[in-house]
Amino acid sequence: MKKIALEEHFMAPALEEYWWPAHKDIPTPIRENLHRRLNDFGELRLSAMDKAGIEIAVLSTVAPGIQSEKDTATAVRLARVCNDYLAEKIAPRPDRYRGFAHVALQDPKAAADELERCVRQLGFCGALINGHSNGHYLDEPEMNPFWERVEELQTVVYLHPADPAQPNPTIGSYRELARATWGWGVETGTHALRLVFGGVFDRFPKAKLALGHLGETLPFLLWRLDSRAKLYGVTLKREPSQYLRENLVVTMSGMYSREPLICSIDALGIENVMFSADYPFESIELASAFMDNVDLPMEQKQAIAYDNAARLLKLR
Ligand code: ZN
Repeated sequence: MKKIALEEHFMAPALEEYWWPAHKDIPTPIRENLHRRLNDFGELRLSAMDKAGIEIAVLSTVAPGIQSEKDTATAVRLARVCNDYLAEKIAPRPDRYRGFAHVALQDPKAAADELERCVRQLGFCGALINGHSNGHYLDEPEMNPFWERVEELQTVVYLHPADPAQPNPTIGSYRELARATWGWGVETGTHALRLVFGGVFDRFPKAKLALGHLGETLPFLLWRLDSRAKLYGVTLKREPSQYLRENLVVTMSGMYSREPLICSIDALGIENVMFSADYPFESIELASAFMDNVDLPMEQKQAIAYDNAARLLKLR
């Protein structure tokens, strides 16, 4: 089955220093193997994509990147370096690779300008943002210039998991729950809800947000979000579920299980659900075999595997 994958990562040499400490809890041999795959744009990656039926991978810098940089000028400078590096690496294979921009929301105006440069000049498909930027979330009023440009460019913002600004006290010493198992989902789902309840989609109704992991549990919660928004007297133009249906798209990165997939399709609509492999962190073979074999009508599978992403990212 022909596929487009949207949450596929690479390493820019200038950003290595952010990655190693953020992944120190992974055993060294696994970390080194990931590092080799992240740095490869050739045979290693392409042969894995071929075997999985992935025609196009949209590449993004591995988390956290400059989202965790404390010095704003450094973050702005390195985002540009990273994007130029990606553009150079994917240029020989426009048939197989596309890019998401790395942007420094520590300076929202600079992030907007860099997004525009990446979309208009480098041909990128949007931006992928690794959670909060040095403690700043995307619903803050200072972020308006960035969202304005997202809307103007009719492009997509993929919100990717990262560690919270402060460790979650409920998770406490349960190290195994802090990150991909649970903590990142809580952090990223909450960040997305801040955009909804903070009125970002009232201010920018055409903005498109993408989440991995089949929406970080949000498709499961639509009814409850609407019900409790009424109880707490939330005054938004639409019900919370409507923003999630109209402004959100999700990919199945790292969620190769039929039950949440069916829930996402039912809650958000088939046109808003897409494939992803999260290379090299998930097994690309597992992701692809799930997509190929999941028990769904063929036209739905084609929409998820290819057509929805092609339309959203304007790939044809
Ligand atoms: Zn990822």
